[in-house]
Amino acid sequence: AAKEAGRGCYRVYDAALHEVHEQKRDLEAALHEAIEGDQFVLHFQPKVCSHTRAIVGREALIRWNRPGRGMVYPDTFIPVAEQSLLINDIGRWTIRAACEAAVKWDATETVAVNLSARQFLDPDLVADVRDVLRETGLNPARLELEITETALILNKQLAATILMELKALGIKIALDDFGTGYSSMSYVQSFPFDRLKIDRSFVAAMNGDRKSRAIVEAIISLAHSLDIPVVAEGVETEEQASLLRSLLCEELQGFLIARPEPFTSPDQAEPKSDKAHAALSAA
Ligand code: C2E
Ligand code: MG
Ligand code: MG
Ligand code: MG
Repeated sequence: AAKEAGRGCYRVYDAALHEVHEQKRDLEAALHEAIEGDQFVLHFQPKVCSHTRAIVGREALIRWNRPGRGMVYPDTFIPVAEQSLLINDIGRWTIRAACEAAVKWDATETVAVNLSARQFLDPDLVADVRDVLRETGLNPARLELEITETALILNKQLAATILMELKALGIKIALDDFGTGYSSMSYVQSFPFDRLKIDRSFVAAMNGDRKSRAIVEAIISLAHSLDIPVVAEGVETEEQASLLRSLLCEELQGFLIARPEPFTSPDQAEPKSDKAHAALSAA
């Protein structure tokens, strides 16, 4: 009887596993359609100077407008796309769409694009970025690619070569989610980062917890001793903002400042003043 019950369990397990595989296959198929059908959109989240709160740049964050399902966030589909070559198509689309948006906004503001590890190691990446810069006419100094340690871990030598080639295009490189990886310290000194982003988990815990605050301080002083400016992610309160400012963190990003939003270029936006004017003349 025990044997019977055991077999039953296996059957349930098989069914569950089968379900998971099916779901993954469906998601991959849907992602293919998403690329073909232009279902991705970019939202942009500003990054501001910690002292003046002036916007210095915007980070592009991908969303999937999935038919019948509403807005889908990257944490649910980027990992699946990463397991196939889909991520390279999505990545190419993202870089182009971000640069096309950036040429329409203030020329002092940078645009940041997230790269997953597989995209970073795509042999076509450097040529793709070069093409997009040429075709959109974006000043390379305004483009910043955000990578995480995961992209650097696999092959340090190859990663260094890719970073040098990207930097030779005149673009900037930021190390994202700093402090959550394995050997952050050695990476900061061996790779040419233009900016370091403190992971939001430290920022969230900073005001209540002495240890998190100590880590934030250590990250900022490490970066500054190497002449690298620091961005704090996930800033949600004025207390966090003022503490970060007092610790000389250069830039802030987070819901306190602004949430990620679709970008409307000035020529697409409602001409508000004209409308008000028309309303006045009609009266
Ligand atoms: P990330 O690059 O570290 O981006 C920051 C994430 O934190 C974003 O989530 C953003 O909406 C969220 N966030 C910003 N401020 C706050 C805050 O004050 N509080 C809280 N709780 N959250 C905040 P999102 O847009 O869901 O993106 C998640 C991750 O997905 C990103 O983390 C990035 O690693 C990845 N990702 C986003 N867009 C792309 C893309 O185009 N390509 C690739 N490869 N990855 C992307
Ligand atoms: Mg990022
Ligand atoms: Mg981050
Ligand atoms: Mg993150």
